[in-house]
Amino acid sequence: MDSFKQSIYQLIVQTSTNLPSDVRRAMDAALEREAPANQSGQALAVIANNIDQAVESEGAICQDTGWPTFEIKTPVGANQIAMKRQILEAIADATAKGKLRPNSVDSLSGKNSGNNLGPGTPQVHFEQWESDDIEVKLLLKGGGCENMNIQYSVPCELPHLGRADRTLDGVRKCILHAVWQAQGQGCSAGAVGICIGGDRTAGYAHAKAQLFRSLDDVNPNPDLAKLEDYIMRASNTLGIGTMGFGGDVTLIGCKVGVLNRLPASFFVSVAYDCWAFRRLGVVLDVGTGAIKRWLYRDEKPAAKMARSEGFPLTGREVALEAPLSEEKVRALKVGDVVLLQGEMVTGRDAVHHYLMHHDSPTSLRGAVLYHCGPVVLKQDGRYRMTAAGPTTSIREEPYEHEVIKRFGVRAVMGKGGMGAKTLAALKEYGAVYLNAIGGAAQYYARCITDVLGVELLDLGTPEAMWRIRVKDFPAIVTMDAHGNSLHADVEKASAVILAKLAEPVFE
Ligand code: SF4
Repeated sequence: MDSFKQSIYQLIVQTSTNLPSDVRRAMDAALEREAPANQSGQALAVIANNIDQAVESEGAICQDTGWPTFEIKTPVGANQIAMKRQILEAIADATAKGKLRPNSVDSLSGKNSGNNLGPGTPQVHFEQWESDDIEVKLLLKGGGCENMNIQYSVPCELPHLGRADRTLDGVRKCILHAVWQAQGQGCSAGAVGICIGGDRTAGYAHAKAQLFRSLDDVNPNPDLAKLEDYIMRASNTLGIGTMGFGGDVTLIGCKVGVLNRLPASFFVSVAYDCWAFRRLGVVLDVGTGAIKRWLYRDEKPAAKMARSEGFPLTGREVALEAPLSEEKVRALKVGDVVLLQGEMVTGRDAVHHYLMHHDSPTSLRGAVLYHCGPVVLKQDGRYRMTAAGPTTSIREEPYEHEVIKRFGVRAVMGKGGMGAKTLAALKEYGAVYLNAIGGAAQYYARCITDVLGVELLDLGTPEAMWRIRVKDFPAIVTMDAHGNSLHADVEKASAVILAKLAEPVFE
């Protein structure tokens, strides 16, 4: 099997950089459906450009290259130990070449292993089958959407929907609630894999396994097919839209599986995936390990996704250059589109924790603090960011009020929005929250003209504090210094629609 490792490397690179055909079709339909001039339409335009740029440069679609899960079927007698060893080597190679971000962190020490290897990473599941070929499927699922997974133990009371019973209608309510609670934080439009039943562990695993189904297949169980169809239609009336900006497309896929359960338990498990739905597969020759064919790909090469170049400008964009003054920031309001120029500083979970106990290693007065864990390559002694989209901001909610107050940050940028405590700090100290387009890692990497330096690199590449210079970096003001939050507004409006879906639909 001389070619096995090379085939796995190709599978990893293609999965990280080139979306499968079914997801492309779903995103194409979303682009058709969403009004181009609203904020969801603008975000989708950036996403479409990003998808094309990732293919052209063979760069990561999203800087969070995710948690790799391999599902492998082998003929009886194939050497699984040798295969696993070569899979680990291919993962380390892909990480060294910047196709995967170092994403495996010791949960006790917080140290990043640097090569995506460690206990639990990657996940490699083998199964034997009767075929003479080897089938390898790979899912790369990022942290922002993983954090939106949810498990219900029914019967239970659900906000806005009332009681969910141990019936198909109770399951319907759980799924609707799962989509609603994710809002834009999992980089909607998203897809959900569902498991009805199982124990808690098997339920989550089977829910994730549904994400290996093609988005446009039809469930062979007629009851589940009806449920999937209903969820797709109902979810897309919620008005959550791309990145939770409000819009017509909230869900691009719903796949439901079922397992038996214990008499005393009834779990509904939900695996949420984002629009950057990275899943591919290959069929390999058992003798050589060479790729015989790709799975989840149409015969003809993928067409370009973008309808227009870059961010659709209206002429009403506000130019912002750091350091920002309080006056300039207080003049911004929710809905404004800004184009950032000049310097920014990245900082996410570890930096926020660090700032609770130390001074900042670089001045943050008037700064734009970007929640971002980039992919960075060092070439000829210089750093280059090859993927640099925003991370989920709500994780910094316990810290951000203090950071704004103590360090004088004027703009916090990330995705998915933040909570009431940060909103109060924006108002009190004069700052704004900017929502960048989640997953648009290639698009934003091209807006970074220089990496000026790095602090706290011992926290690991994604967690370090990078100082960067940007040009025409677009983002939308979604929380302002006047107490307004687009995220709170969309959540409230979608809750009213959700409540109207409480009436039973299935027996
Ligand atoms: S698109 Fe968003 S949710 Fe998906 S992996 Fe990237 S940052 Fe995470």
